[in-house]
Amino acid sequence: MDERFQYKSAQRIFDDIRRIVTKPWTVMCICGGQTHVVVKHELDLALPTQLKLVHGPGCAVCLTPVETVDKALAVTAFPGTILCIPGEILRAPGSAGNLMNSRAAGADIRVVYSPLDAVSIACEHPEAEVVFLAAGFENFAPPTALALYRAHEVGLRNFSVLGQYLRFTPALEELLSTPGNGINGILAAGHASTVAGYGECEPIAERFNTPIVLTGLDPLDIMEATYRCVRQLEDGRAEVESTSTCSTPRKGDPATQFLVDSVFLQAPSRWRSFGDVPAGALRLRSRFAFFDAELRFGLENLTATEPAECLAGAVLRGELQPNDCPCFDDTCTPDHPVGPCMVSSRGACAAHYRYRRGE
Ligand code: SF4
Repeated sequence: MDERFQYKSAQRIFDDIRRIVTKPWTVMCICGGQTHVVVKHELDLALPTQLKLVHGPGCAVCLTPVETVDKALAVTAFPGTILCIPGEILRAPGSAGNLMNSRAAGADIRVVYSPLDAVSIACEHPEAEVVFLAAGFENFAPPTALALYRAHEVGLRNFSVLGQYLRFTPALEELLSTPGNGINGILAAGHASTVAGYGECEPIAERFNTPIVLTGLDPLDIMEATYRCVRQLEDGRAEVESTSTCSTPRKGDPATQFLVDSVFLQAPSRWRSFGDVPAGALRLRSRFAFFDAELRFGLENLTATEPAECLAGAVLRGELQPNDCPCFDDTCTPDHPVGPCMVSSRGACAAHYRYRRGE
């Protein structure tokens, strides 16, 4: 889009927001990608003072439990193992180091773009145990389900999956049911609801009397979503809607849902920094237990603790800004992260370090 047109459109949306806002409102950007756009383009600073945009828990690397990283590190200690991972998780801190350190020390850790790539590696290396690390939100579950069916079809004995996928709506419910959360409206990530559809947000909007607007990651899209959210709040409505460019379907994709349901089941989960989320994860069904890396490597009981000085939990709940944390830009930097929010390209602390350091 022409830059001048963008500027004019942006100005118009800011003017519209200023015109309609009459009360103090707090709106949460659920997705870490939104947070980076907001901080980079200083969208929050251009809003009227009574309207606050806060960060939310939508960064899968930030939320991947520390014991998952520890289990992945433990897997690499088994001789003849190839660990296949999504690139972002490489620097997520475990209890003692991260996967990047482990790779530098000689472990065979490979970044893959799809779990099907991990299946191909397992076919090419029958002498090795190939483990795919499942990390991310539920929209990453379909390719892993396909990979497991493929592994079953070709009779792979040396392929397994470690980890879990995170479910967005139970976390939203947990967040909004926390007493004193102070959140009036939600900007949700359209891409996170492509499989389930945004219809599953409707009972949440109604139960908590909180408008939810789905948006993409374009700055104008986020501003339009902010306008729509404030419009609902000022009108006393609490509905689910999406911006004009967000194409997330209301009902999701039934065929993909069926595929995912046949491989995974909903299970309670403890999200890193965030806490317990009932039905917050998708884990392998027992019929796929043969491909469960935790069982194969005897890692079910491995536990880990998070660094007490990291305040990422409060950052991910919108209670604190990253620079409220005493570690920010002191003991915690992208080169030496204490918590995962400083590592991930969608982490709120990394966004503030990159764009607002020293302010
Ligand atoms: Fe955790 Fe570092 Fe963020 Fe503080 S600055 S909350 S230690 S990730």
